[in-house]
Amino acid sequence: MKVTIVTGGSRGIGAATCLRLAAAGHAVAVGYRSDADAAAAVVDEIAASSGTARAIAVETADAAQVSKLFAEAAEVLGPVTGLVNNAGVGSRIGRFVDLDDEDLRRVVEVNVVGAIFCAREAARRMTSGGAIVNVSSAAATLGSPFEYPHYAASKAALDALTLGLSKELGPSGIRVNTVQPGIIYTDFHGTQSGEAGRPDRLGPGSPLGRAGQPDEVAAAIAWLLSDDASYVTGATIRVAGGR
Ligand code: NAP
Repeated sequence: MKVTIVTGGSRGIGAATCLRLAAAGHAVAVGYRSDADAAAAVVDEIAASSGTARAIAVETADAAQVSKLFAEAAEVLGPVTGLVNNAGVGSRIGRFVDLDDEDLRRVVEVNVVGAIFCAREAARRMTSGGAIVNVSSAAATLGSPFEYPHYAASKAALDALTLGLSKELGPSGIRVNTVQPGIIYTDFHGTQSGEAGRPDRLGPGSPLGRAGQPDEVAAAIAWLLSDDASYVTGATIRVAGGR
C-alpha cells in the first residue's frame, strides 16, 4: 500500500491533496502545524469515504519533529512510500527594501530548511523506493517583484533541490518532482500575503483568465505520486493557468 505524508495537509492545496490521494488508495499522514481542528476535519472526510488517514502535528523547520512525523506515520500507517513537501509560508507583500528580518528568516526556514529536513528523512526511510513531490511556486521563475522576491527565491531553492535529488536518489528508486502552482484560492493570501482578495485581483490577468482551485494542483501532485508517473523524475509541472 502507498503511504504518503503530506506536510501542510490541514488546509488549502495540502488538504485537497490528502483527499485526492486517499481516493486513489493511499494511506495519508495529514501533517499540520497549528490547526488541529482543520487537520481532524480532513481525516474525518477521508474516513467517511472509507479511506485511511492520521493527523500528525509537525513544525517542519524542526528536524526532530520531522523525524518524529515520519516515525509516527510509519508506525501507524506502514512504511512511508511518498512525501508531498507542501508546507510553506509567505510574508506580507510589500517593497523589498521594507522586508522584515524575521519574515525573511521564517520564509527560508520553512520553505527551504524545513522542506530539506523532510526530503532528507524521506530519503533515509524510502529504502525500497518511493516518490517525493516538492510544492514550489510559479514565483520561482517569475520572481515576485514588488510582492515577495525572497519567497520566490525560497521556491527556486526548492526547484534546485528537486533537480539534485532526482539525480542522487534515482538509482535508489526514489522519484523527485516539482509542482509549481500559480495563484490558487486558499487562505494563504489572507493569512500570509495580507491580501485575501489577491486571487481575484491577479487571476483575470492570466491566460486562462482566473485563479486556480486547490484540487487542480492536487491532481498534478497525485499523478506524480501514481504509478502512471513511474518514468517521471526531475520534472516540473506548472499549474498556473498559463503564467
Ligand atoms: P495555506 O492555505 O496557507 O496552508 C498552509 C499549510 O501549511 C497549513 O496546513 C499549515 O498548517 C501548514 N504549515 C505552515 N507552516 C508550517 C510549518 N512550519 N510546519 C508545518 N506545517 C506548516 O497554503 P496553500 O496556499 O495551500 O499553500 C501550500 C503550498 O503551496 C505552500 O508551499 C505555498 O508556498 C505553495 N503555493 C501556494 C500558492 C497559492 O496561491 N495559494 C501558489 C503557489 C505556491 P496549520 O494551518 O496547521 O498552521
